Amino acid sequence: MSSEKITEITVIGAGLAGSSFLEALRKVSQSIEVTLIDKNDFYFPKDQLSKDPVDLKKIKKISQWARDAGFNFISARVDKISEKRKKIYLDNSKKVEFKNLVVASGALSKRIDIKGTRKEGFFYLSEINPYDLKTLLKIHNEVTLSAATLEGIKFSLLFKSLKKEVRIVAADLDFLGPDKEKIIDFLKRQNIEIHLGYKLDEVIGERAVKAVKIKKEKNSFKEDESFPVKLFSSQLVFADSGLKPNLGFLDSSGIDLETKCFFSKYGQIYIAGDAANAELEGQKSYRGNKAKVERGSAALANYILGLDLSQFKTGQEENQENRFKEEIIEEIYDKEG
Ligand SMILES: Cc1cc2nc3c(=O)[nH]c(=O)nc-3n(C[C@H](O)[C@H](O)[C@H](O)COP(=O)(O)OP(=O)(O)OC[C@H]3O[C@@H](n4cnc5c(N)ncnc54)[C@H](O)[C@@H]3O)c2cc1C
Repeated sequence: MSSEKITEITVIGAGLAGSSFLEALRKVSQSIEVTLIDKNDFYFPKDQLSKDPVDLKKIKKISQWARDAGFNFISARVDKISEKRKKIYLDNSKKVEFKNLVVASGALSKRIDIKGTRKEGFFYLSEINPYDLKTLLKIHNEVTLSAATLEGIKFSLLFKSLKKEVRIVAADLDFLGPDKEKIIDFLKRQNIEIHLGYKLDEVIGERAVKAVKIKKEKNSFKEDESFPVKLFSSQLVFADSGLKPNLGFLDSSGIDLETKCFFSKYGQIYIAGDAANAELEGQKSYRGNKAKVERGSAALANYILGLDLSQFKTGQEENQENRFKEEIIEEIYDKEG
């Protein structure tokens, strides 16, 4: 695709991928008309969530950023995209037409099929709203985390550092690899309760979360069989259930995400960032994704403008196991001084 042909572009998602794509595009071309759509008017960097999710200074106000850059900004959630009709359907019943579209809608936590996930105080990791969380952390003390990846373990340490009572519920924590026992030992010494072989079964409360029911995993044999179900008082529940590309508004069954490329193409639609990450569903640690997203978005901008892509070739990927082993050990050393 060459720069002469492109006069306008629409981008869904003002997160890391969308904004680094647009910054790269702007460096080369000032004349392309940009329409940016995001369901929120704020953006909190995902890699900062498990460090301090309530540091509101880290928030980027999207409308202001877009205005300064000369982009049209639409603050609405995309419900559906028709690639054939070149139309985007928004949650406010409006439609937006597009010529060239970049979907940079990030990742979505895998859904868990239990009652109560819509109550105030329940959070999927991909949808933490720092404003809501800040208010709730001021008034509540008991936190339950279901951990399926390293991110859940990082969050447990974060909440402990905020002096909360923290409980981890997990199938097995095998994703911790060879350092599993050492890490479990460390977590217990931090007074983090660990319920291995259990999963979330119900989030209880009327409008807001009051308690949580956990249930023994079918194949679990390690814990005392006389307690197949346990009930705890808890006002905050976090589901670290793994991530998947957030493409539900597209007919995602027709999309074959590229594994060897930084972005994917679906008809006239380009997919960038976590939404284009074919490996996301199997990941147990998200460290390194940020760098991949930034490189991929710059590569996509160059591709769309018909520039050289050679500097963006994928290199030898870092070994995943070593990567998260290193991260949790860093974390432990940090806490133990
Ligand atoms: C909980 C969590 C922790 C992570 N921690 C790390 C880490 O420590 N290190 C690391 O390298 N990577 C981490 N990652 C990976 C991280 O997602 C990427 O590094 C990077 O943020 C992905 O950028 P993105 O633009 O693809 O998605 P995002 O940065 O998530 O941006 C997506 C944007 O799309 C918008 N959007 C979504 N759906 C719609 C819709 N339907 N309509 C309109 N707008 C929509 C969102 O509001 C958001 O602004 C983490 C991810 C998660 C979910």
